[in-house]
Amino acid sequence: MPITTKNMTRRDALRRGAAGLGLSTGLSTGLVASFATSFATIAKAQTQIPNWKTEMRELAPGVFAYIQGGGPGEMNQGVSNGGIIVGPDSILVIDSLGAPIQTKNFIAAIKKVAPNKPMSRMLISHHHGDHIMGLPFFPQPMEIVCHEYCRKEMLATTFPTPNWEKRANWAEGGEPRYIVPPTTTIDDRATYYYGNTEVQVLTIAPSHTYGDLAVYLPQHKILFASDIGFFYVAPFCHNAAPTKWMEHIDQVLGMNVDTIIPGHGPIGGKKNLAEMSEYLAVFKSEARKRYDAGMSPGKAAAEIKLGRFDAWIGAQDRLVMNTVRYYHEFAGTLKPELDAEGNRLATIEFSAARGIKN
Ligand SMILES: [Zn+2]
Repeated sequence: MPITTKNMTRRDALRRGAAGLGLSTGLSTGLVASFATSFATIAKAQTQIPNWKTEMRELAPGVFAYIQGGGPGEMNQGVSNGGIIVGPDSILVIDSLGAPIQTKNFIAAIKKVAPNKPMSRMLISHHHGDHIMGLPFFPQPMEIVCHEYCRKEMLATTFPTPNWEKRANWAEGGEPRYIVPPTTTIDDRATYYYGNTEVQVLTIAPSHTYGDLAVYLPQHKILFASDIGFFYVAPFCHNAAPTKWMEHIDQVLGMNVDTIIPGHGPIGGKKNLAEMSEYLAVFKSEARKRYDAGMSPGKAAAEIKLGRFDAWIGAQDRLVMNTVRYYHEFAGTLKPELDAEGNRLATIEFSAARGIKN
């Protein structure tokens, strides 16, 4: 049975969601509290936001997007997308996904479409758990390529326990949990050729993090944007440089691209990416008004309304972290690392203002 909000308690949902990947870096307890308010909003929004299915979809010969299902009423936290480029001799995998069962399903789907080829190279788009924690389940050794900043953050990641806990549709329990160090870093761009397919790896950072990579296939006008793109899912800004992110989206909108595979949400195109940028713009202007009025970030987050974007998956959950991040931008104190303490304090104020009991 799929994990949905219907068969989970709210407490379960909180635990499985924000804490789901079990990282001791990157996810603060502050993020968890506000998640509770998201369900009512999601329920109201069901007519506007689509549901999408898990699928391996061939977009061009040898080019596949792997989309994990989601949408209103589904488990969306920690559920990301990947992809593969199948060459004459080997496969490039784009992101390893996160939880063990998700990753094993991805690997099985790869073996189904390209049964006899080695997965010899992995491109990791950024250091967040839902994109890197699947690495131990891929056949090693493989070349693992990422941005320099991403590698540094991956190596700094620690875990509360060395094994995964049993959890439906997430982990059988007991699978090993560790970081597989990347073998190759880039800080600008690289081009690979898989047969005649040109595969450009582009740095588009700082955006969602300070080490975001995307994969561009110019012949097919396809962009694997990873977390540069969140479609129908509220962008997650806790390591972001949000204004730079918007500027980078403008650059992507100027590229020769028809199809965009986001890190979260269904396959889309420039229209979806432009819409996501509008979310960031609306958020910025709402946060700015309150920053200028001297309001604290927690109180501001509790007040901020995003219009139609309030219906996006996780919109309520991300109010605090995104406000904290914009406040740092306005104050000139933005750093690559998330502000765990700032998020924690803002969450306390947010919860008090919204009347949420933890
Ligand atoms: Zn992600």
